[in-house]
Amino acid sequence: SRTPLIAGNWKMNLDHLQAIATVQKLAWTLKDARHNFDDVEVAVFPPFTDLRSVQTLISADKLPIRFGAQDLSQYDSGAYTGDVSGAFLAALDAQYVIVGHSERRTMHGETDEVVAAKTAAAIKHGLVPVVCVGETGEQREERGAGVVAVEQLQVVLDAVQPAEIVVAYEPVWAIGSGQAATAEQAQEECAAIRRGIAAAWGDEAAAATRVLYGGSVKSGNIAGFLREPDVDGALVGGASLDVQEFAAIARFRQ
Ligand code: 13P
Repeated sequence: SRTPLIAGNWKMNLDHLQAIATVQKLAWTLKDARHNFDDVEVAVFPPFTDLRSVQTLISADKLPIRFGAQDLSQYDSGAYTGDVSGAFLAALDAQYVIVGHSERRTMHGETDEVVAAKTAAAIKHGLVPVVCVGETGEQREERGAGVVAVEQLQVVLDAVQPAEIVVAYEPVWAIGSGQAATAEQAQEECAAIRRGIAAAWGDEAAAATRVLYGGSVKSGNIAGFLREPDVDGALVGGASLDVQEFAAIARFRQ
């Protein structure tokens, strides 16, 4: 069975000093609540400049919180000003890396092919990619729910050999809008994504792969999503910046 993953995408928020304070506070809050990290995994995705500080804190204090980056280069090294190699993230003991977030697809022109290349790079460096897919409001109206996300993922699944990945279904219309998908919509889409994985990689891979929902997740709606059989966790944006709120999301079973 799949261990639920509650992942906090900080986006471009919190500098490295704020990151240390936030991760410390999150660890204390969850420890106070006797959170079982084997039961519900918790990960944070800070900006690049925070990662070394977060790694140092987590390893020094042996905190059970995992971390990853919000992006990586598809290349290993070289003349790619401003980009960060998966090799560097692996050297920092990052476990995860977000790939293909809609903000990178729209603001940095990342195509499905680039997302596939970045996914391959992450796997090559021993990182677990959190591959984000999801339709815009317009695409949903034109093509219906459940089509675009599966298509986006298909390009990735065709380009890489079966490996541990996490998929995050993030409908663009639900991101930062306060208008989350319903649990039923999330279930339908995550199930379609899982069927796509089964078709490309086989039933075993499909059963093992965690599929998250993202988009206006809060402590008030998380339990509904996690009750669905094909929703294995959440990728949380805004609400992950508030430690109490994020801890409450991780404590969705209470
Ligand atoms: P919000 O939770 O702020 O809607 O953001 C979701 C998201 O984009 C996480 O990657």
